[in-house]
Amino acid sequence: MVHARVPAATVPPAFALSVDVEEYFHAWALSPVIKRADWSAWPSRVEAQTERTLELLAAAGVKATFFVLGWVAERQPALVRKLVVAGHELASHGYHHDKVADLTPAEFFEDVRRTRLLLEDQSGVAVLGYRAPSFSIDQRCWWAFDCLAAAGYRYSSSLHPIRHDHYGMPDGPVSPFQPTRSDFLELPVATIELLGQRVSCAGGGHFRMLPYAWSTWCLNRLAGHAGRRAIFYFHPWELDPGQPRVPGLPWRSRLRHYTRLEAMAGKLERLLQAYRWQRIDQLFELRPATRAAA
Ligand SMILES: [Zn+2]
Repeated sequence: MVHARVPAATVPPAFALSVDVEEYFHAWALSPVIKRADWSAWPSRVEAQTERTLELLAAAGVKATFFVLGWVAERQPALVRKLVVAGHELASHGYHHDKVADLTPAEFFEDVRRTRLLLEDQSGVAVLGYRAPSFSIDQRCWWAFDCLAAAGYRYSSSLHPIRHDHYGMPDGPVSPFQPTRSDFLELPVATIELLGQRVSCAGGGHFRMLPYAWSTWCLNRLAGHAGRRAIFYFHPWELDPGQPRVPGLPWRSRLRHYTRLEAMAGKLERLLQAYRWQRIDQLFELRPATRAAA
């Protein structure tokens, strides 16, 4: 019998995998052209895209955290249940994909409360986690963390602490922290410091558009830092080169949304094999909050 030199059980997985489940037309790059009133007029592709995601994860034996948009969950209840039955963590991406700073605290609270209750009703499991659309929690809307805790969430993974023209908090915390006085955590997605700059290695468009070797170089560097448990993410629509091409987009939006969609599945397959991945709640050992606050 051949034994591995280091038993797998003694090597703790370093990374959590997360998936933001939304339609291609919810993506921020398309929002200048496709308004909320038009969403229902565009063909839905999220079910097939998420099924493809589930197949890739199942083939690699990986369990992940799925942040599902409430608008999608309401229209795809079977998909929500399927994620849970497959052993993945069900979490919330809010209901309407508004940037947090565009809402009042009362509007934000209602958006996230409604989504948590919907997902829990559909699935029968506790929903602990939340991710803001476009990583849109920053200094202007720090109150969002109080709203999330009050709405019964246990954690958020909504900070992408890099410099970016659309989102980000370049001087924000890079490690998990408690933003409110309650039992609540913010878990920023993965970044590294390189030549004095913060660089994302969190996935999404960075992973899709840049060379695979660059992403793994960054992740390997991150893995070398003791105690840095990284969160990676992508969207099911990034696996769908056949999605409709939306006319009238600014060139930068076209570039960001459509570049290398055809390469994403293959890159993701390699990445799933290259590291050990797990759900966010498992990597950070999170349990449901007491329901007294819900
Ligand atoms: Zn989103």
